[in-house]
Amino acid sequence: MALRLRVHIQGIVQGVGFRPFIYQLAHHHRLNGYVANTPKGVEIEVEGDRKALQHFLKELPELTPPLAIITQIDTEELPAADYNRFEIKSSEQGEERAALISPDTTTCTDCLRELFDQQDRRYLYPFINCTNCGPRYTIINDIPYDRPKTSMAVFTMCDDCEREYHNPLDRRFHAQPNACWVCGPQVYLADSAGKDLGSEDAISETASLLNQGAIIALKGLGGFHLAVDATHDEAVERLRWRKGREEKPLALMSSSLEQIERYALIGEEERQLLTSPQRPIVIVPKRPGNVIAPEVAPRNRYFGVMLPYTPLHHLLLSHPFLALVMTSGNISEEPIAIDNHEALERLGNIADYFLLHNRDILLRSDDSVLRIAEGRPRQIRRSRGYVPVPIFLRKPVPEVLALGGELKGTICLTKENRAFVGQHIGDLENLETLEFLEQTVDHLRRILEVSPRLLVHDLHPDYLTTQVAEAQEELPTLAVQHHHAHVVSCMAEHGLKDKVLGLALDGTGFGADGTVWGGEILVSDESSYERVAHFEYVPMPGGAKAIKEPWRMAVAYLWATFGEDIFQDELQLFERWDRHQIGVLLQMMQRGVNSPLTSSCGRLFDGVAAIAGLKDRIAYEGQAAIELEQWLEPTTEKYQYEYKEDEEKLLLSPTAIFRQVYEDAVSGVAPELISGKFHLTLVEMFTEVSLYLCQLHGLDKVVCSGGVFQNVFLLENLEARLRKSGLDVYTPQLIPANDACISLGQAVVGAMRLEEQ
Ligand code: ZN
Ligand code: ZN
Ligand code: FE
Repeated sequence: MALRLRVHIQGIVQGVGFRPFIYQLAHHHRLNGYVANTPKGVEIEVEGDRKALQHFLKELPELTPPLAIITQIDTEELPAADYNRFEIKSSEQGEERAALISPDTTTCTDCLRELFDQQDRRYLYPFINCTNCGPRYTIINDIPYDRPKTSMAVFTMCDDCEREYHNPLDRRFHAQPNACWVCGPQVYLADSAGKDLGSEDAISETASLLNQGAIIALKGLGGFHLAVDATHDEAVERLRWRKGREEKPLALMSSSLEQIERYALIGEEERQLLTSPQRPIVIVPKRPGNVIAPEVAPRNRYFGVMLPYTPLHHLLLSHPFLALVMTSGNISEEPIAIDNHEALERLGNIADYFLLHNRDILLRSDDSVLRIAEGRPRQIRRSRGYVPVPIFLRKPVPEVLALGGELKGTICLTKENRAFVGQHIGDLENLETLEFLEQTVDHLRRILEVSPRLLVHDLHPDYLTTQVAEAQEELPTLAVQHHHAHVVSCMAEHGLKDKVLGLALDGTGFGADGTVWGGEILVSDESSYERVAHFEYVPMPGGAKAIKEPWRMAVAYLWATFGEDIFQDELQLFERWDRHQIGVLLQMMQRGVNSPLTSSCGRLFDGVAAIAGLKDRIAYEGQAAIELEQWLEPTTEKYQYEYKEDEEKLLLSPTAIFRQVYEDAVSGVAPELISGKFHLTLVEMFTEVSLYLCQLHGLDKVVCSGGVFQNVFLLENLEARLRKSGLDVYTPQLIPANDACISLGQAVVGAMRLEEQ
């Protein structure tokens, strides 16, 4: 006897080939009925015998198209309606507005096969794509996601493409960016002034220029890359010099895992991550004796590597390169260039040639960066491939907009039970980046149809984002403390509701008492917190300068530990640092001039790195801490740590640690061992303190967030120790531990406060 099922599916199920998939699955099981898009997702009715329906329901989530993400399936049984066929119902106007939009996705295997098939009409076509792959987020202007609302609008499909587009059984049914040699976008090679060089085969020509050591600006999916042959020492040096990017590692792209293995060490988890449809940059250890130019990642034991993710990359890397440097097309910290004119203007002094095309990038999106820690992928920069997939919250919340912090900025919008964290924006220290933030807010508000009731920003009065919030009158505002936002972001990711012990360890965040916080333990829920422990304050002589110059922090910690007299010693340690400048710093600290107080944990790493002789000045954020971790030699020795009870709080002592770090340094203990002891000390101390505080406050959950948790040693060991002690530990995975998570935490705090009103 025939049975009818109605199935509602929610998630990313529109614009990803979901309806044709259902059509084919229903046909396969000889079921009649229909499939249609609805405002919430997809509705299906299927009718047939019970066995066939069971198979259909079982296979549906298993065989779902690669870009689809199913978040919920609801089924109800109904009396038979005697359908005589299965059909795809066309969408009604406006239906698709509330649906989720897919991120940009790597070229699929079917398209790749066609790309290199001489018989195929898209042979070597650099914009080949289908419903299972290609650009999405970066070419959308508005919803519904239809071709006229994308940057493909200016290209009219030829008859062949049109036919594919309208055939439900074709791989390109409703593939909005569908295109071919005849009707779609084209690439061309230009000189640094933008003049088309009229090359017959622009990509092969580009490859041979790269071979000769040229720097090429490549227009990609979410923005421009600057590319050079990664084995060409001189070209890499020239690129680094022209780009003004002193020591930060440059990303690499290779054609295959086999190629990557020739210069890096990759484990099973890394392989999976590298070949995932998101195709992120993955941080992997260098292979000793590799032939990659040293300037790619100087003073670093790791490379950032990725596989090709657009047809253009595949074509370029079909030429015999071991690896290409593919670094974002910007000058130091400015946003990545996306527009042809803008790129020529901004990158004209860096690149020798430009490989351009005529499909506009509507929203910039950098490459995402991840690494494996504790066997799981961890976000470092969450952007292309992951945005705009939401973080699913534990329940529906009011709509709010959060502007994030200052460094590694992101924004966040909430809607129902979803939090949409936007792509990496960069450090909000200049107007270009602020403009990018505003574009991203507009764009996401439009495509997600969110009407926020509250604008959330950081507590810091001087942040550009705080100024933006204060300058507008559209929405009421709320300031959220930085470390509370850290803790709540991780709670949100793991769906936690009740009070937790939050370890927020990072470099800098404006504290509720006006000092610079950064080594904080909070008892926190989603709307409020109590600060139950922190590092004792030390001055940061020179303020922001002390962050760029770790030797200043070393002087501050030594001063706090031993007093001024220590600097009278004729020690080699102080030889490296300017005597006169030390004197100036001491005076500043004594008088409290330009020496804000900090409880930062990140600065601790800086101080240790400087005293151990590893790093006195840094070229990018967190460099001293990163290098300290890379030098680490595991040991069972640790430093004695101290903390004391002060009113309601525990004060953790940096000076107890620095006394011993100093003694080690002057008695010639190797930096590797100092690093090892220091890391172990933090693990032991935070384990003991967490246990004590959990008991004191009746808690059993510990939540970790903050840039310090990008330190794999600390993350893995602290998590293991706390687990062993019987506590539940939650660490960031879907979003970065660094300040890119601040907007999510802010949004959830804001939404909860609205609810409480
Ligand atoms: Zn495809
Ligand atoms: Zn065509
Ligand atoms: Fe932070």
